[in-house]
Amino acid sequence: MLFKQAKWDEKLILEQGARGRRGHVMPPVEEGIKRAVGEAAKLVPENMRRIDRIRLPELSEAQVVRHFTRLSEMNYGVDSGFYPLGSCTMKYNPKICDQLAASPDLGNLNQYQEESTVQGILEILYKLERWLAEITGTYEVCLHPAAGAHGELLGTLLMRAWHESNKEHLKRTEVIIPDSAHGTNPASATMAGFNVVVVPSDDDGCVSLGALKAVVSEHTAGLMLTNPNTLGIFEKNIDEISRLIHEVGGLLYYDGANLNPLLCKARPGDMGFDIVHVNIHKTFGTPHGGGGPGSGPVGVSKYLAKFLPIPRVTFDGIRYHLSYDEPQSIGKVKGFYGNIAVLLRAYAYILSLGVEGLQEAAEVSVLNANYLLKRLRKAKGLTLPYGDNTPRKHECVFSAKSLKNETGVSALNIAKRLLDYGMHAPTIYFPLIVEEALMIEPTETVEREELDHFIETMNAICEEAYTNPENVLKAPTSTAVSRLDEVKASHPRTMTLSWRMRMKQETREPRKRE
Ligand SMILES: *Cc1c(COP(=O)(O)O)cnc(C)c1O
Repeated sequence: MLFKQAKWDEKLILEQGARGRRGHVMPPVEEGIKRAVGEAAKLVPENMRRIDRIRLPELSEAQVVRHFTRLSEMNYGVDSGFYPLGSCTMKYNPKICDQLAASPDLGNLNQYQEESTVQGILEILYKLERWLAEITGTYEVCLHPAAGAHGELLGTLLMRAWHESNKEHLKRTEVIIPDSAHGTNPASATMAGFNVVVVPSDDDGCVSLGALKAVVSEHTAGLMLTNPNTLGIFEKNIDEISRLIHEVGGLLYYDGANLNPLLCKARPGDMGFDIVHVNIHKTFGTPHGGGGPGSGPVGVSKYLAKFLPIPRVTFDGIRYHLSYDEPQSIGKVKGFYGNIAVLLRAYAYILSLGVEGLQEAAEVSVLNANYLLKRLRKAKGLTLPYGDNTPRKHECVFSAKSLKNETGVSALNIAKRLLDYGMHAPTIYFPLIVEEALMIEPTETVEREELDHFIETMNAICEEAYTNPENVLKAPTSTAVSRLDEVKASHPRTMTLSWRMRMKQETREPRKRE
């Protein structure tokens, strides 16, 4: 059955309504308050006061409610259905986590409050740090980074701080990264001032030990590794990899985007990783996508803890404190203490699942991925590159190369056709080492029926590619917007990002020089 998404010809809210129309009648403002607001407004520099030039939309309540309801019907999210976006761990997020994060007791806190008045939130942050240290097998955790990539930057800066403290930073110039890694890994290492050395994967999808041996040296600052890697395969030689890196004095960095299948089963710290980031928004229950909100805490071994950013949350047995007195800290990487609302959701998520719940999440995510792999590898035109007989952890990567050669239908076309069936597309064209990649991660929060439905739909689309390729090539046809111009859609110069930009385009007013 084809899915139908609402296709409203929806105007912007500023294009609706009429002068003087009201949705709500506000109570009259008391004279005293009016005066106070007037006084306060004078604090804003005159050239920045826009009060008489602002045109706010004027609509009835019904217009507003209908506008936003229509917009929501044109959208798709993790609450709407299956979302198998590989590497992103798009699981259903329990509402209780949102409830806690939105509670007024927490929402009304201010970052500048006196330490003694925020003991509750400090306790939560402290406990969350301890839990994440336990889960990752690290000594101390810093919650500040706002995303996985931000955690990577912090991690590589910590690598630099460590080598600097040993007076070795001038020779430790290289960070080794496998060719299956996420693009943020080389970007972060480069931003931290290192040269990136790429090691290839073997036919079994794991880091090539031979190639690794050839590049490790006294110039190695560290190795960044995702485990299970982006093919969903556990790096079986992790002990040997750890030995090789540590033997030359390098550090082992864990990209935690794929921690989900290992939750309370295996710990990166026990595998030899010195620095670990966790993608809270992926693994621990925060709705994400479209660029945020995220959180990428970093855990480290004992000897690196002194370099972590300030302030640190400390506990003296009675009260919690924010400590700025950390002379070897690399400084700050983010304002205040990180993305608190995301961290609160993680706290609620871990607390509500407990160790057994987290273990079950890991087990079911692996079971679902392998069930899907077993059934989908029979699909016409799809192949399973790397590690033919290797079980996957939480995700698997197919190649649509044969399908494309035989029918002209690419991985992109399959992804677009899936939308017609009411399912979000998997990740495509990543990892880069797989041609026409379809990277599928069902997560633990998909039911058997939904998984079967997805597998049958994928099979039907592959079949359709042979019998009626035009149908697949013109997809999607039942969504709010049909096929986008991918280049134009991601080109900042052609995007209209604000009402002011739109007005300027309309009146063709030449851009003023700032
Ligand atoms: C998502 C992801 C990252 C980056 O994390 P963000 O939180 O998106 O910055 C890094 N590595 C892998 C393997 C990922 O999937």
